[in-house]
Amino acid sequence: MRLSGTNIEHTRSFNRRVVLEAVRRHGPISRAEIARLTSLSPQTVSNIALELRESGLIRAEGRRRAARGQPPVELSIDPAGGYTVGLQLDHARLSGVLVNLAGTVCGRTVEPIATPEPATAMPRLAAAVEALIDGAEVPRTRVLGCGVVMPGPFDVETLSSVGPTTLPGWHGIDVAGRLTAATGLPVLVENDATAAALGERLHGAARDLRTFFYLYLGVGLGAGLILDGQPYRGAWGNAGEFGHIVVAPDGAPCFCGNNGCLERYASLHAAFEAMRAAGKCVGTTADLAALAAAGDPAMTGWLDSAARHLRIALNAVENLLDPEAVLIGGDLPDRLAEALIDRLTPLPPSVSARRDRHWPRLIRATAGAEATALGAAALPLFDSVSPSFSLLVKNGARSAPEESAAALAVAP
Ligand SMILES: [Zn+2]
Repeated sequence: MRLSGTNIEHTRSFNRRVVLEAVRRHGPISRAEIARLTSLSPQTVSNIALELRESGLIRAEGRRRAARGQPPVELSIDPAGGYTVGLQLDHARLSGVLVNLAGTVCGRTVEPIATPEPATAMPRLAAAVEALIDGAEVPRTRVLGCGVVMPGPFDVETLSSVGPTTLPGWHGIDVAGRLTAATGLPVLVENDATAAALGERLHGAARDLRTFFYLYLGVGLGAGLILDGQPYRGAWGNAGEFGHIVVAPDGAPCFCGNNGCLERYASLHAAFEAMRAAGKCVGTTADLAALAAAGDPAMTGWLDSAARHLRIALNAVENLLDPEAVLIGGDLPDRLAEALIDRLTPLPPSVSARRDRHWPRLIRATAGAEATALGAAALPLFDSVSPSFSLLVKNGARSAPEESAAALAVAP
């Protein structure tokens, strides 16, 4: 039996997203096909499709030939119906994209940022939003919102205020509130790993996956969990803080207070640390890749160690989540990612070792360096609590006939 704490507006908003997502992924598509795909009633799909058409988010593509009877109208996303901005702030850069509803990038920016602290970075974030909107010459009323992505975790006393893998000074800062005040747009904040996982699901190798674990190897180590098609954030938004899983109880001390955290072995920070300890002159990830290409023994040793520790944690992940696949992405240069995947394969026995698998257990992410910013841009559409979408529908459309709560039941 399903629990039904009915919140009709929330359900309506959720169903709109479900229909919009069905049209985005499968369009041109008829209303009957949407109803089949989403398990929504034909009446609900018709009502929502009407709302979405009147607000300019989807459009009719004409009729398909049918064997008999009146052929159905085909619906597609209207790319110019809405735009979203995605921003990624990390230790060295501010990257941004402006995408249309079809996911096409209409504008992008990448700028170095030497001190990613709130006082310097907040005005830069606001300026980037304005520059992207102005540069793409899109009507501001059609901009649905902005997603901002930063390394997590957020607001955990022992984890977020110290350590070289988090950004300094952001503890307790209301990023969404401040950026909304500066730009007038709804703003959603997410950690980099979850956003990259979303970007990968929309634009990369996870397009056909519903349940997967996305390993984000950046300066630190995080993970994005997409469970049954939705990002899983945990009770306080910090699910997937994979780097602080202890894999070596007597191992290297970590900035979080534990010993032997995975991030101390498998992260760019750990790689730089290991190379400098070996006397290598490394400043960029390209330097690391060059060492790997040259078969440098220190780098080979680091890769072996990173893989050994990762295998322990990934075994726990597979047994805990039973994912369709584990994806490896983040800021790791291709050469290092490939070397790591070689060492991780095959993963140790787990519930994922099945004969009837559709995908390999370990997959290299393909959405590229922009995956995270693209995921950030998807946040305003993905997030069930985002007001922007329902506001646009309300402002742009005549209200559809009220539906009963019973007709709004969504299939699991
Ligand atoms: Zn730790």
